Amino acid sequence: MYDMNRSFIMKLGWELITNPKALWVKLMRAKYGIPDDTIPYELTPGKCSHAWWNICKIWSRLLEGLNWAIGNGHTIRFWLDRWVGGVKPLIELTTIPILESRRGDTLCTYVNEFGGWCWADFEAYLPAEVLLRIAAIPPPIPQSSDEDSVYWSHSESGKFSTYSAYTSLTHMPWSVGNAGWKMIWKCAVPERVRTFLWLAFNDALLTNEVRHRRHMIDFDGCDQCGGDSESLNHILRECPRSVLLWGHFLSIEQLGSLPTLPLQEWLVKNLMCGTKIIGVEWSIFFATTCWLLWNTRNRIVIGEETVSHMELCHMITAKAKSFQQANDFFTSLKHDSPSKEHLIGWHCPPEHWVKVNTDGALKEEPFGASAGGIIRNAYGDWIGGFVVNIGKTSVFGAELWGALQGLQLAWDMGFRQIVLELDNKSVVELLNGEKIPLNQHRHIVSLIRQLLQRRWFIRIVHIHREGNRAADWLASMQRITRWEVTSLNIAHRHYLGY
Ligand SMILES: [Zn+2]
Repeated sequence: MYDMNRSFIMKLGWELITNPKALWVKLMRAKYGIPDDTIPYELTPGKCSHAWWNICKIWSRLLEGLNWAIGNGHTIRFWLDRWVGGVKPLIELTTIPILESRRGDTLCTYVNEFGGWCWADFEAYLPAEVLLRIAAIPPPIPQSSDEDSVYWSHSESGKFSTYSAYTSLTHMPWSVGNAGWKMIWKCAVPERVRTFLWLAFNDALLTNEVRHRRHMIDFDGCDQCGGDSESLNHILRECPRSVLLWGHFLSIEQLGSLPTLPLQEWLVKNLMCGTKIIGVEWSIFFATTCWLLWNTRNRIVIGEETVSHMELCHMITAKAKSFQQANDFFTSLKHDSPSKEHLIGWHCPPEHWVKVNTDGALKEEPFGASAGGIIRNAYGDWIGGFVVNIGKTSVFGAELWGALQGLQLAWDMGFRQIVLELDNKSVVELLNGEKIPLNQHRHIVSLIRQLLQRRWFIRIVHIHREGNRAADWLASMQRITRWEVTSLNIAHRHYLGY
């Protein structure tokens, strides 16, 4: 998790460099005295915020992945930036020190009137090996309007991603590491199960063995079978309870290989397996089984009743089927027939799921903005709704309000498998992303994020306006004048003439 955090911080650092127009970047640069358009070679923490201190700590690692693509050479600094492929900043390779006054020279300073490199100005300072590399690089064209640009060398696209930052930090050398990461994010199970898999893969779950090692408990044995040393391997594969369970689902041949592979490889191998069991992809079934083995184990540890073998079998089958069903539903959304009407209309959610459609609207003066939403089940029945007056905000703000209220209502009504549908694409992207914007919406977005992190399953998807009519209509109702959320039940449906 430590490296995960660092990769998120690197993302901030990357933004600091490449997104100079962002308000928070401007503020940070101003506060810590970094002129615009420059990439500081070093950052000094000094008196500063926690976030800044963290950025300072990862700065050198970030710069290692940062490379320059040459344009007109007005921005790249010859000695300080990384622009010679695969080579450190040249200042670190000099054979004799560079004059202080020349350190900030840009690349175009070293281009002569004929468009070639001014070798005489730098060759004495650099080893031959580096000079050879420079010789292979066409000098910038100072008159060109093509600006120098920065790219991220750890990803193929040149764009920064937390994933590539993570791999650059961990240097996961063996292929199982990468395969594991990919297979886990590909596995069509809810986020919560994936997080579990990721923790399991990294052996980061608090098993009794781990807790004992950290002096949290005295006894490291298994609470279920009394066996010594309850490791994750024990919970998932060795405990008699698990062996019995796998015996139920695996073929003789698969059972034979159950204990032989190392745990990580075993996880990956199963997540990659393409077969099906009772109509469910094996990867989903396998992930669900591991997840529930861990969950029921936790219940026993905290003193709840044990689950019988048959109960556990039923639970796994039911959950795995519902995950598969949800996945089929969402893939069908993605690859649906191109008939327009089909694409833009409203569709029922899968069984055991509810769909929340929300929308925001600006009303005429002096009414400000409002939002509305409607909750429907797998049969398309209206099971709840709300309208709320917000006050003065933008359409974007009103949409966010709608999403927040819709989720809150669904949660309060006890639903735990939700599709949230909005007709505003940028709101959908924002909520599905990881960024919390630094603007007036920051607070509401973080409130929504907090809701999303509760123990439930949520998919946020975009729907065309035509499909979101009911919510749109609710949001723009003039009749509602109260300043609090008005919940609507089925009775209101008739009253409102919907
Ligand atoms: Zn056991």
